Amino acid sequence: MDEESSKILTLSDLKIRHTLMVLDALRRNEGMSRSELAKSAGCDNTTVTRSVRLLMNGKLIVASGKSESMKGRPREALILNPKGPQIIGISLEPNRIDGVLVDLSGRIRQRLDTPIAAMSSGACYMDAFRETVSTLLKAVKGRCLGMGVSTFGAGMDASHLDFSVHFPDLQEVDLLETCRRNFGVEPEVADMMRCRMQVELAREPELRKGMALLVWLGGGIGMNITVDGQPVPGHRNHGGELGHNVCEPDGLPCACGRRGCLETRCSTGAVLMFARMILQINDLNISQLGALVEADQPEAVALVHEVAQRLGIALANQLNNLNVNNLVLDGELLQLGDRFRDDLETEIRRLLFPIAAHGLQIHFRHMDDDGLALGAASLVRERLFSDPVFFAKALSPKRIGK
Ligand SMILES: [Zn+2]
Repeated sequence: MDEESSKILTLSDLKIRHTLMVLDALRRNEGMSRSELAKSAGCDNTTVTRSVRLLMNGKLIVASGKSESMKGRPREALILNPKGPQIIGISLEPNRIDGVLVDLSGRIRQRLDTPIAAMSSGACYMDAFRETVSTLLKAVKGRCLGMGVSTFGAGMDASHLDFSVHFPDLQEVDLLETCRRNFGVEPEVADMMRCRMQVELAREPELRKGMALLVWLGGGIGMNITVDGQPVPGHRNHGGELGHNVCEPDGLPCACGRRGCLETRCSTGAVLMFARMILQINDLNISQLGALVEADQPEAVALVHEVAQRLGIALANQLNNLNVNNLVLDGELLQLGDRFRDDLETEIRRLLFPIAAHGLQIHFRHMDDDGLALGAASLVRERLFSDPVFFAKALSPKRIGK
């Protein structure tokens, strides 16, 4: 153990907590000076000076090099160290594994995408996972602080992931043991909806105030809830099955084995199936359907309006139950365009009780391809910025995978 790290590890809890408060204040508002940090973190100047010194010694923060004079005194702007420790984020999906290496600010420094061929075995899938992690570990500059993994499927206690619905050959994968054995790292594991929410929280700090509901409108319809920026985990960390809310008694058969689920009408797969049938266009995609709606094609307009109505009812029901402050909507279905979004928002607001409507913000977002891996890395960043034990451990000189 080097001298700097042992100094940090032997600090009292209070000093660690103060240091974390300063670090957390800085990540929310990079470029602050020591005195601005003192105000923001609610600490005195001596505490901030000591915390800043520790964080600089640990290479977590640096002076940005831009200093200006305020009332005759030099003001040194501090930032998270862009060349400091890095974090790995991995996104597991049935047909691809994406990996990113990010710095402490969440900026991507390296990315790696591995397509998984259809009908691949579970063993091949896990080989691709190990290969992705190994490659990223080799690319880490300096220290690796940890690894986050976004998963699909259910049963999110990391030792017993149940991928069986989407990838039957990956039943009961022990991701935790795989990572411990191969890389000496205990990953932060969460389902993809939680990881998507992490990205939204990082992008939009307003979402941390009160309750936020994220709904993903894609091949599946998923949800995630946070209260004051903290996830509401649910049993076995499962976010909920909005897509399998029954919206039609004795409706169409669903992949889950029941009938009339929301996804049988409003998933991208279902919408395209109906659109191709009605419009007699075999290779129609979502944005082309959106273009037909914008061009006023009557059958396309009628179909998409019906989708907006069904989703509007399902979402308004959730909002009336939960009284959330922010609703975030994202997913491939939003490529249907502005008219669909307006229709959906109108339908939601038409059905809200006044108390649920009061102060509700609706955000339409677009997440790029790296979103899930980035969200997985954010799980580690979130832990680092809030958990004193994890923070102290992360500063240990022991290097993951080395
Ligand atoms: Zn279902």
